[in-house]
Amino acid sequence: MGATHIGSSNISSAHNEICKQGGEYLRQYDYCITIGMVLPDSTIDGILRDDVHSFADYFSAYQSINQQLGIISIVIATFLQQNSYLSMAISPSLYPDKEKLCSNFSHKIGARLSGLGWIGKSGLLITPDYGPRVRFVSVLTNLRLRNSGYIMDSRCGNCHACVDSCPVHAYTGRDFVPEEPREMRYNAVACYDYHRQRKNEGKIDMCGYCVQACPYGKQAKNIVR
Ligand code: SF4
Ligand code: SF4
Repeated sequence: MGATHIGSSNISSAHNEICKQGGEYLRQYDYCITIGMVLPDSTIDGILRDDVHSFADYFSAYQSINQQLGIISIVIATFLQQNSYLSMAISPSLYPDKEKLCSNFSHKIGARLSGLGWIGKSGLLITPDYGPRVRFVSVLTNLRLRNSGYIMDSRCGNCHACVDSCPVHAYTGRDFVPEEPREMRYNAVACYDYHRQRKNEGKIDMCGYCVQACPYGKQAKNIVR
């Protein structure tokens, strides 16, 4: 169905953080299936052109990939349900909590615990091969699953590219520490306001410079030229 990444993890160690964000009802799910799809380079690198065509392409690619990830997650969740397991598909793109500016579950938790990548200074999940150029979706379940990989240490090192790329300085540049609140690293309100500002200026309310800037996403991918 087009997925490029798949992982599974036991998320019970993160239950307190998960329930704080989304609610106590999430504690019934001990396991997470994480599915990812790589974004097209032409879309992400097109951000730098900052014209109507590049952002229309960006908007279309995100919509299409989110839709496909949503379908995949529903298919898996329904399959689990039909086999007598608890399951819950988490939306790939909706941020219904307008106060906290987040969804009920962070896909990055499952992606990190399943060994698909590390949380970068951008707060994004950074995969070794595609950097942050991967969209994720999650299915929570009580089906017992093995962790598909080991938690990766950060490979950000001295890099600061995402921090420097942000037009509103939304990142503090701190490395990810699971126990620290997101606010220590990322100003979600500044990012959100910048999107609104763009809209008020007649531009498409999308950004993504921090995604484009990461060297792990830019590295050569065996392209034949
Ligand atoms: S999406 Fe844009 S405004 Fe938001 S953090 Fe990334 S670079 Fe900054
Ligand atoms: S741009 Fe650099 S600091 Fe930011 S997430 Fe990527 S590797 Fe880490």
